Amino acid sequence: MTSDKTEARTPGQGSGLTDEQAGGRVVEHSVTRYLTAHASLYAPAGRRTMWWYAIRCPHCGAGHFGRLRDREAAETVRRTGCGRLVRLVVMRTYAPKVIR
Ligand SMILES: [Zn+2]
Repeated sequence: MTSDKTEARTPGQGSGLTDEQAGGRVVEHSVTRYLTAHASLYAPAGRRTMWWYAIRCPHCGAGHFGRLRDREAAETVRRTGCGRLVRLVVMRTYAPKVIR
């Protein structure tokens, strides 16, 4: 009689593992959906209140510029000047003041 309960648990453990793997793949896929563009960030200086960024476009190979409201918005998916979507990866940040 007790052996019946042990057998019933086995399929439940198997399905639990499968759910975790499927969830991980979905997240990873959405992140790698866009090509990444390595960006140089320029901090607000003088009359500029926006952050500027310059990227080397992974689609057309040309350079594109864009503006951001703040530093936090840099690590997001942006539309480039040639109309494609890329995910920005900040490589360098140019601050208005020299940091020693
Ligand atoms: Zn482009």
